[in-house]
Amino acid sequence: MGEVERGESAPRRRIPFWCANGHETRVILAREADVPEFWDCPRCGLPAGQDQTAPPPVPRIEPYKTHLAYVRERRSDADGDALLQEALDRLRVRRGG
Ligand SMILES: [Zn+2]
Repeated sequence: MGEVERGESAPRRRIPFWCANGHETRVILAREADVPEFWDCPRCGLPAGQDQTAPPPVPRIEPYKTHLAYVRERRSDADGDALLQEALDRLRVRRGG
């Protein structure tokens, strides 16, 4: 039982952090330790700050996938145009002959 008493009396403090999703994380720090400005939320991975009413903004996701999808879309359009042109040419040849 003496173990618990010793743990309680250790010079530590709990610093609450909140992420943009409203998750509260209590970080236990030594009293003399510097309090970090941000803390990664262990539940969703977003940065969390000490101001519950103004959590850090959600970091923007890189538009990597969107750009790739855009390129793929353009390419399939070009392929579609080529196929259409080929079909028209074939039709024209058939009519001409
Ligand atoms: Zn969170």
